[in-house]
Amino acid sequence: MADGWTKTTCPYCGVGCGVLAKPGADNQTAEIEGDRDHPANFGRLCSKGSALGETLSLDDRLLFPTIGGVRVDYAQALDEVARQFAMTIARHGPDSVALYVSGQILTEDYYVANKLMKGFIGTANIDTNSRLCMASSVAGHKRAFGTDTVPGTYEDIEIADLVVLVGSNLAWCHPVLFQRLAAAREAHGTRVVVIDPRRTLTAEIADLHLAIAPGSDVALFAGLLAHLADNGCIDARYVADHTSGFDAALTTARALSSGDIVAATGLDASEIAAFYAMFAATEKTTTIYSQGVNQSSCGTDKVNAIINCHLATGRIGRPGMGPFSVTGQPNAMGGREVGGLANMLAAHMELSVPAHRRVVRDFWNAPHLAETAGLKAIDLFDAVGSGRIKALWIMATNPVDSLPDADRVRAAIAACPFVVVSDVTANTDTAELAHVLLPAAAWGEKDGTVTNSERRVSRQRKFLPLPGDARPDWWQIAEVAKRLGYADAFDYQGPHEIYAEYAALTGAENAGTRDLDISGHANITAADYDTLAPYQWPLTADQQAADHTAEAPAKRASIENADTRFFANGGFYTSDRRARFVPTPYRLPSSATTEAWPLVLNTGRIRDQWHTMTRTAKTARLTNHYAEPFVEIHPRDAFRLGLHRADLATISADAGRYVARVVVTDRQRPGSIFAPMHWTGQLASAGRIGPLIRPNTDPISGQPELKYSPVRVDRFAALWYGFAVTQSRPDHRQFDYAAVATAAASGGWRLEAADARAPDDWPELATRLLLDGAGRDTELLAYHDVAKGQHRFAAFTGERCVGLLFAAATPVAVSRTWAVEQLGREVDVRQRLRLLAGRPGGNERDRGTIVCACFDVGRNDIIAAIVDNGCNSLASLGERVKAGTNCGSCRSELTRLIAEANLSETA
Ligand code: SF4
Repeated sequence: MADGWTKTTCPYCGVGCGVLAKPGADNQTAEIEGDRDHPANFGRLCSKGSALGETLSLDDRLLFPTIGGVRVDYAQALDEVARQFAMTIARHGPDSVALYVSGQILTEDYYVANKLMKGFIGTANIDTNSRLCMASSVAGHKRAFGTDTVPGTYEDIEIADLVVLVGSNLAWCHPVLFQRLAAAREAHGTRVVVIDPRRTLTAEIADLHLAIAPGSDVALFAGLLAHLADNGCIDARYVADHTSGFDAALTTARALSSGDIVAATGLDASEIAAFYAMFAATEKTTTIYSQGVNQSSCGTDKVNAIINCHLATGRIGRPGMGPFSVTGQPNAMGGREVGGLANMLAAHMELSVPAHRRVVRDFWNAPHLAETAGLKAIDLFDAVGSGRIKALWIMATNPVDSLPDADRVRAAIAACPFVVVSDVTANTDTAELAHVLLPAAAWGEKDGTVTNSERRVSRQRKFLPLPGDARPDWWQIAEVAKRLGYADAFDYQGPHEIYAEYAALTGAENAGTRDLDISGHANITAADYDTLAPYQWPLTADQQAADHTAEAPAKRASIENADTRFFANGGFYTSDRRARFVPTPYRLPSSATTEAWPLVLNTGRIRDQWHTMTRTAKTARLTNHYAEPFVEIHPRDAFRLGLHRADLATISADAGRYVARVVVTDRQRPGSIFAPMHWTGQLASAGRIGPLIRPNTDPISGQPELKYSPVRVDRFAALWYGFAVTQSRPDHRQFDYAAVATAAASGGWRLEAADARAPDDWPELATRLLLDGAGRDTELLAYHDVAKGQHRFAAFTGERCVGLLFAAATPVAVSRTWAVEQLGREVDVRQRLRLLAGRPGGNERDRGTIVCACFDVGRNDIIAAIVDNGCNSLASLGERVKAGTNCGSCRSELTRLIAEANLSETA
């Protein structure tokens, strides 16, 4: 592109939005815009995508390889990795080594990693954090369709008359898809059903929200199948021509009475009836499901219970219809395509099928093709813990925080004889345990492809130089492969060669027997790869007669308008080309609540953070929305436990403890709590939720049950609570409870803290926190009210405020947004005492928590616009305070604020 702009793809969620990026002069920032030509987003971006340019700094970057914490050159580090792997394989066999990779890496990286492990080392012990994300969807697709096919396209969400969202907080987890759905609803009245134990912000646009009991989706959809059969809604022709097993699935579904379904789901019979009637009456129905379905000990059955209803009605593969799994990660789909899961081969071929193994063996000329499935993530780390796996390479992921039973995972990695971590970030809870650290190229520094949730392959493109010694992941693996003696098979000159090889493999002995075929790109040139426009597979050699390059927009448009949906006319990838109905008997989650562990913990994402926050926590634009770990709890449970808003609570389970801010909300079901998955030991002293999650898995997919862990909640008995804004990053590990976050665009940090012991010396603590690195000419103002347990400090360098600390015996009621804004301000001597009051002066506003990240609009400004200026619509609110007028990620929150403000006005 001209003018220094590069077309690339967002590195966060599975929507896969097209991004335009233009680097700043320092190469540590970039201008970012949505790509209007990209069919996933047509120019839209969410808050995370919009802030990408602010997360590129080299602060915290891993820039040089180390062995045992000592900097070495790359060749030494790679020699050591190869030496240790070779030695371990020689002594203990190929299954004694493993790779644990990530839906963050590019398809080319994944392909090379999989080829090395499954084809040359001879073990299938390569699994991915995508196991945590959508393995149940893969397993469900394979059971029903014979292969892992997502039949539909994003367009279906806009064409559908009814969109059913199951276990999907689309508004926060796939925000641009949510915007597309909201726009379609506005344009032609799409009805929306949200099935989720929580009343998330997604439910704000729902005609019907079913606050289903956690884990009971199978019962609800089994009941739907029986309802469809009982009410003449079965597409008998489709079932007869293209499927098998309908009767058995229906018999299993009918084993549940309507009373059973009410009991299992906890819903009113009238709510269930309303949903069934809407589904039965609406041909153009798309069912979107995500982690709430997948992250379950019966996730695969949930997927098949949904698919059964679509097969039974023939609502699949036609515009506006179909079951639609949306993936969490940017390249979960690419990983699936090249065999990133331990039980798959590359190109949607199966380890368990001898003919597939032969195709791959011949194609790779592989000396040691794995014969059996490898260990899935939970089993893989169990094997690390038991010593069966003795050399482990972790790539672009942070299992010490993200896996269930995370403290046990940490202990297993710590005890592993040899651990390599390739990452972008120097300081992660996993990197701390590595023997060898390999600096990886970050987003914007590497080239490759990703596949989004609708099978659309897009280029990620490099627009920044490689900093330090950072190198792409594929290069690291290829270099180790060469050192292991496989130079010929891994002699890639660039990612385009890897992509072409992978494309050729998809066509090998395919002839329509496999869904995934992009052999049209088997001979792609480096130049065409550079300009490759987004496309949806399949793309066979025949189809490639059309030109897919960006220079041929007319031809491209004709391809993009072609119907790439699967299965409207059957043609499944089973032995008889028929889909399979799968009987899905309802069963309870693996663990039950008990007297000791009476509440169910559900985990998930928040709007502005990504995974373990290594990138999104770099900008205050994204930390302002939620700056500390929290737990949502229903008012009834909070009352019973003596918890109030802004208290701290300890959530504990067999294997761990998490301390977080209490959010009391009736959006939560009684008996269930919700905590975010994002915080790590790097940002919070007790904010890792992973240790509390039991390592229960789905028996078919191996996906962990991240949304159902019995826990208990207790009030955290703090002697004092504190809030500080500081110039230097404070050490949060010194407090029982603490969370640090980037405070402002101009720099600085904010700290929430609490402790069961009082500091020996408050001024000493204040000096340490506020004046660290402040230099000369400093002053510390203090205010103490010992009777009330209040201690307040304001630090200055010259006229400039360099820090504030507020401590009290109860949660500190200071406006965080206001306090952050004081950092770096010049404050007149006469005004300084005012800062100790902890609130804005008469002529200042407290903007409240920032809701609109793009325009920095606080909650109080929004409420004032609604109440004082009558802004009762998104349009009028946008006009008045600009909130919600850019990325749109906050629009559902604004809708809720309008509703709540109007409710309190009329009360
Ligand atoms: Fe990125 Fe947001 Fe688009 Fe997801 S919805 S790909 S996070 S911009």
